[in-house]
Amino acid sequence: MTKVSIIGAAGTVGSSFGYHLAVQSIVTEIVYVDIPSKHSFTVGQAEDTNHALAYHSDTEVFCGDYSDTENSDIIVITAGKPRQPGQTRIDLATDNKNILDSIINSLLEYNDDFISIITTNPVDLLNRYVFESGNRPRESVLGFGGILDSARFRYTLSQKLSLPPTAIDAAILGEHGDSQVPIFSQIKLSETTTPTFSPDEMEAILSSLKESAMRVIEQKKATQWGPSAGLYHMVSSIIEDNNHTYPCSVVLDGEYGLSNVSLGVPIHLGSNGMKEIIEWDLSPSEQNALQKSAEKLNSEYNLL
Ligand code: NAD
Repeated sequence: MTKVSIIGAAGTVGSSFGYHLAVQSIVTEIVYVDIPSKHSFTVGQAEDTNHALAYHSDTEVFCGDYSDTENSDIIVITAGKPRQPGQTRIDLATDNKNILDSIINSLLEYNDDFISIITTNPVDLLNRYVFESGNRPRESVLGFGGILDSARFRYTLSQKLSLPPTAIDAAILGEHGDSQVPIFSQIKLSETTTPTFSPDEMEAILSSLKESAMRVIEQKKATQWGPSAGLYHMVSSIIEDNNHTYPCSVVLDGEYGLSNVSLGVPIHLGSNGMKEIIEWDLSPSEQNALQKSAEKLNSEYNLL
């Protein structure tokens, strides 16, 4: 039996992820939680999701309160304010920290051994905050962002190289934000030799990646399918204990020469959450950019 709870389930990311997870039939139960004023909408989302499952998935989806989350294996938090056009993720910090405080306190009344996946922005700061304000092992306190950034990197490269995105293995580490670090040195292609890019090309790719989320927000008001699919990859790897490597935000303890900061690094996922941080051999400029990303996050953490 596997139980997943989604906090913020009436929202764009929460509801899309709930549907994505439910149709794959890999968990027994999904609990949708949102604020009381969205109760009716959340009940409707759960019922509509159940109607999508009846031919191929026995996952049970229902709307509940915090007591219904009791003994969840994984809790995905997508609750909080999203960015509006023109806003940065850090603009959301204070409001979303306060929202997260009340959610974590409520969850801890009913759960003591669970994996949390923070999606709410600014995700790296909030994941560190959740870790530091509790007594849970860092392996079970994870932030989502790097999988989505890396998906955007793969897609951008696929357009540039005229290859299918699935033929490209490429990752973004560091902040889920402006100081993200595309790891050009580790790009692997299944069919051709490793590509080389000039500094100008790399800069142009990075600049396009930094704007990709806001492009979508300006066009359709929110990012939806990208985060939903990325969360599914993360959660399914934990449930299937499949050792997949994905960039996720986790509090570092000396890895990559960094400590007391949560940012995206490649990790093996498994039944306890993070099994291991993989330390890639980065180029000097990538290592330097990762260090700068950590410094940016550390100075912003003081704003929380
Ligand atoms: P949304 O406004 O559509 O949904 C947010 C939901 O949270 C709403 O349904 C709201 O009622 C709920 N909520 C607010 N306070 C709550 C509380 N105290 N308890 C329970 N539920 C509460 O926003 P969205 O587009 O789904 O985005 C949600 C968050 O995820 C934002 O902070 C956004 O920036 C972030 N996000 C992160 C990534 C990532 O890669 N990490 C990607 C997309 C969005």
